Order: sequence, then structure tokens, then C-alpha cells
Amino acid sequence: MTYNIDELLSRSHDEWLAAASNLTFETRLFIDGGFTDATSGDTFRSNSPRDGAKLADVQAAGAEDVDRAVRSARTAFEDGRWRDLAPKERKHVLLRWAELIRANAEELALLDTLEMGKPITESVRVDVDKAAETIAWYAEAIDKTYDEVAPTPGDALAFITREPLGVIGVVVPWNYALLIASWKLGPALATGNSVVLKPAEQTSLAALRLAALATEAGLPDGVLNVVPGRGEVAGQALGRHPEVDKIAFTGSAQVARLFQVYAGESNGKQIAVEAGGKSPQLVLADADVEAAASAVAWGIFYNAGQTCNAGSRVVVHTSVKDRLLDAVRRITAETFRVGDPLDPATVMGPIVDETQLASILGHVERGRRDGASVLFGGGRTLTGTGGSFVEPTVLDGVDNTSAVGQEEIFGPVLAVVSYDGDVDEGVRLANESDFGLVASVWTRDVTVAHRTARRLRAGTVWINTFDASDVITPFGGFKATGAGRDKSLHALDAYTALKTTWINLA
Ligand code: NAD
Repeated sequence: MTYNIDELLSRSHDEWLAAASNLTFETRLFIDGGFTDATSGDTFRSNSPRDGAKLADVQAAGAEDVDRAVRSARTAFEDGRWRDLAPKERKHVLLRWAELIRANAEELALLDTLEMGKPITESVRVDVDKAAETIAWYAEAIDKTYDEVAPTPGDALAFITREPLGVIGVVVPWNYALLIASWKLGPALATGNSVVLKPAEQTSLAALRLAALATEAGLPDGVLNVVPGRGEVAGQALGRHPEVDKIAFTGSAQVARLFQVYAGESNGKQIAVEAGGKSPQLVLADADVEAAASAVAWGIFYNAGQTCNAGSRVVVHTSVKDRLLDAVRRITAETFRVGDPLDPATVMGPIVDETQLASILGHVERGRRDGASVLFGGGRTLTGTGGSFVEPTVLDGVDNTSAVGQEEIFGPVLAVVSYDGDVDEGVRLANESDFGLVASVWTRDVTVAHRTARRLRAGTVWINTFDASDVITPFGGFKATGAGRDKSLHALDAYTALKTTWINLA
């Protein structure tokens, strides 16, 4: 199998429909290097949000299955079959895995699109290609990373080495199922840990396939296990398991806190959290309004707003607000074609499921009741398809302290907050949030840009751009968004512990 991303990106709707109709699904758990049935025989249903049709009944891991997976991971860790390999040997396996992910891009992208509703071109470009790139990047890093020697006096030698933590529980959401998993699997596996991955209920199929490809690439049995299942059952069992050394979690702030409780009530395992956001784009009076409008539209409507770092709040100076919103309306109408995610012409696919759709429409209604006005959108669309589609929506006149000004909607709904005063007022409003994942500032004044960037409380601040990112820079947030960072070389620290070895030379 060869990988040709351009060929995949040039396919027609009919070609993708034909490929989708040939797809088969592996629905069993992946433990100790092979597929296995859930002990209880319990299943949960995976539906496609593009038409509401059932895709598969996926086997649901119970506590005993999670225990099997953790024990397999623990055995693999303790006997050193992976962690004791030379870093360059781990590199070769992970590079082969990245190649296999790319070689199987058609299947993985289809699984992602069918389960989650992401436009197929984005599943190829972002979820599959970037996941492979991330795994390869950590593979390449691991045999170029050195440890340290401490500045001891002459009668001693002390060195500081990094050791893998042990068994890592990786718990991820559905919005970028493969990409977010790769941000954790890449550094965790490169540094020699074993992993038990618990995918979101909505997106288990691609994760199962990913694990099988890892085995095909030569990853030893037990080093990567996948336990699809319900959050409160399989997720909780993993969070409370005494043999898990760390949970690397991405998801909602509410569930993040549950994992902190699970850790506190079990073995005090480490918890790294990447939770949500209500991220502001701060548009100052001297901004390039056309450029800002494009970034505002893409910032909220990309992936139908189901992005943790969506720019879901605009804080805009009143002097440029009308021009900005006119441009956002025009760009949205011209660009954000809502439709079947298997159609390459679609820019905005459906919402992941009916529960999430109902929650989004509930937020719009709440916004109306709290005094915001619907500038455009606000409703369900394409109802004849049976799919879960919502119109791109802008709520104007939002009070920043109201529910739609503060709560993460996780859908294509932009909250517009305006201010009259100076930059301080804009910064105050932008920072007036429990979250702190990302923020942007739009201004032509370089000094104001730098000063404002320093004051914005967010893990990433963009100046005159939005959502520019790469595996080379850390990603994560301040405040309720969480602790810990994915991506970049810093993520290697997150999956290792420092060890000091002190030698007497006297
Ligand atoms: P979620 O918190 O409901 O679920 C995330 C994971 O936790 C899933 O695997 C789920 O099965 C599991 N889970 C759910 N309830 C659980 C419980 N009681 N105990 C243990 N595990 C449980 O989030 P979601 O709906 O899948 O994803 C959307 C959320 O993820 C949004 O809030 C979004 O902002 C956030 N997110 C954050 C980032 C980031 O990097 N900061 C990235 C993507 C998504």
C-alpha cells in the first residue's frame, strides 16, 4: 500500500461513498496484541451523524476488561520488552507505525468521518496525516535526547536520567480522535511506557484500527491496548486502577475533575488535563478587519465549532464591530458549505450526535433569553438527511458574564461581546473566563500586540492570526483548562520521571 495524500484529497463524492460502502468494522477490544471480546458481552451503538444510521455495535469494556488491559500493559512494562530497547529501535518501530497509518489513510479517515462527521478532506489532512506526523516526530526525537550530568565537586559524579513512568492511561474525546491520541501516544511510547487507550464512545473504531497497525509495525504485545467503553465504566475503571501510573486526559472540564478525584481516591496517580475553553479573539480598534473576520469565521466554524481551542468568543471594539460582523457573515455564506462530510466540497459537517446537537441549540435558546440576538443561523438544518446538522450561528450583544459568554458550547456558535473603552477593557473582558486555552489579539500596533499578548491568560496567544500550530510548540491551558502540555519536546517530560544517580569518587 502506498500513501498519496494528493490522490485522497482529489477524490470525488462518489468515490468516497463507494469506499465507505466497502468498509468493515472491527468492534472488539484490543488487549495484549490482539482483538478480544468484552467479558460481559456488553455493547454500545455507534451511529453516523451524517445520516443517523447505525454503523456498528461496539464492544464495551467493563472493569474486568480494563483490568486485563492494565495487567497486560504492566507485564510488558516490567519485563522491559519495549522500554529496554535502544531508543533507535523504538524509533524504527514508531516510524514504521507512522508509515502504516499513512498507508491506511483512506480507511482511518473514513472511520473518523463516518463516526464523527468531520469533512473527509479534514480527516485525511488533520486527523490521519497529522497523527502520523506526530508519531514520527516523537520517534525521530527519542534517539536525539540526552540526559544530564550535575555540576558536582570532583569527588562525586551525579547524573540525572529520565525514566518512563510505567503504565499510562490515555483518555481522549471524539473531536480529533486520532490526532489528540497521537499527541499522547507519541511521547508516551517513545519514552518507553506502556499505554491503555480509552477512546470516546463516539469514535472507537479508528482507535482500534490504530492499535492493530502498531502491532503490525512491530510494537510488542501489551505495550498499546485499547478499551472502548462507557466513560463512567471503562474510563472510571482506568482512572481508579492502582496499577496505572498516570492518566493523560483530554475532554471536558467536568470529567477532568472526576479523574482528579479517581486519582486521589486510588493510588495518587499523576493526572495531566487538557480541558475545554471559551477562547477569545480580541479585535482592537486598529485591527485589519478583513483578516480578523476570516480568522473569526474559521476559528468558530471549523470542525463545526467542535474544537477545544475554537475562537468561540469575539471581544471587539464597537468602532469596528459592524464591519467585522458584516465580513464574518459574507465569508461564512461564501465558504462554510454545510453538507455530507463524505463530499469533498463540504466545509462544515454535522454535529457529532443528537445529544450534542440538543445541547448546542439549548445554548442558543438560553442566549436569546439572556438578551443576545441571533445575527444569523441559530437552527437545525438539512433535516431531510437524517443527519445532525446545525447552521453556522452568530450571537450578537452577548453579556460576557452570561451563560453563552462563559460556557463552552462546543458547536458552531460565536458569542460577540463588544467594548467601548481602551485596550485594558478589552483585555479584562478577554480574561474574564474560567478557561485559558488560547487567545488572539488583532492590532496593527506591534507594541500593543506584544503588551497585550503578555497580559492574556492563555496557553497559546496568537497575534494577527488564529489556530496556527504545529507539533513543535506546546499546547494546553491555564486555569480550568487544565495542567500539563501536549506537543513539543516538553511532552517528553510529561511521560518520564527524573532519576538522580550519585556516585562516590572519593
Ligand atoms: P468528555 O469529557 O465527555 O469525554 C472525554 C473522555 O472521557 C471520553 O473518552 C469519555 O468516555 C470519558 N469519560 C466521560 N465521562 C467519564 C467518567 N465519568 N469517568 C471517566 N471517564 C469519562 O468530553 P467529550 O464530550 O468527549 O469532548 C468534548 C470536550 O473535550 C470539550 O469540553 C472540549 O473542550 C474538550 N477538549 C479539549 C481539548 C484540549 O486539548 N484542551 C481538546 C479536545 C477536546
